[in-house]
Amino acid sequence: MLKGKTALVTGSTSGIGLATARALAADGANIMINGFGDKAAIEKERAGLEKEFGIKARYSPADMSKPGEIAEMIATTEKEFGALDVLVNNAGIQHVANIEDFPVEKWDAVIAINLSSSFHAIRAAIPGMKKRKWGRIINIASAHGLVASAQKVAYVAAKHGLVGMTKVVAIEAANDGITCNAICPGWVLTSLVQKQIDDRAKASGKSVREEEIALLSEKQPMHSFTKPDGIGALAVFLASDAASTITGSAYSIDGGWVAQ
Ligand code: NAD
Repeated sequence: MLKGKTALVTGSTSGIGLATARALAADGANIMINGFGDKAAIEKERAGLEKEFGIKARYSPADMSKPGEIAEMIATTEKEFGALDVLVNNAGIQHVANIEDFPVEKWDAVIAINLSSSFHAIRAAIPGMKKRKWGRIINIASAHGLVASAQKVAYVAAKHGLVGMTKVVAIEAANDGITCNAICPGWVLTSLVQKQIDDRAKASGKSVREEEIALLSEKQPMHSFTKPDGIGALAVFLASDAASTITGSAYSIDGGWVAQ
């Protein structure tokens, strides 16, 4: 379906971003990957995408906390591939602390990477999409874009902001062949969540498995993790022609978290 199109997935060196890049590549899109990590492992992933799916893949090391690097990454993508058709804003970090103990530099970093980076990427990508009259913008928000949890002030503020940004972009680009939607996952077992489970186990003295079950059951009626592949499949659907009138939506994929 996406043959001949180009997708950029921010933060695609691990977790949800990597699974989404793979799903879009499997559907035929050329891919710009981005994110931090071991150079050799990233190159293996990039070359692997090309070999496995017969597409073209490039890597941008842009730091998503730096507006100039984001704009450069979008320009490079358009230059390398001729267009940027599908933008997936996925890069994200977490920090957990009560508001009175929340380090100011952590607030700034979470807001920059989880919220402002999407503004900078969309701002740079929209003119090309408007010119070509086709575009798909998919923002990886969170259940925390719709409801809150204690000790996650920056993350919750950023993700609520991202859901709001999604609606504004959807309205502004509604008649330009461009859709903009958010995906709101519940718990997905990636490095971002594994760290929270490990920290809880360290603090409580319980086993990692016990804390895994506790983490799930505190928030989700369904006691299972969402798989990164499921989010990739939803992104492919939102990029498809079948989804051409779905815009401004926030799709929950969360084991019933926000149904309560
Ligand atoms: P992850 O830690 O596995 O992946 C995060 C990715 O972002 C990595 O590729 C990392 O290199 C990249 N990244 C971090 N800082 C960056 C920066 N400054 N510049 C460029 N890249 C940067 O985490 P994940 O769980 O796959 O999270 C991906 C997204 O999904 C995040 O936005 C997260 O908030 C969201 N999310 C995750 C869950 C979950 O349960 N894991 C739930 C809801 C939403």
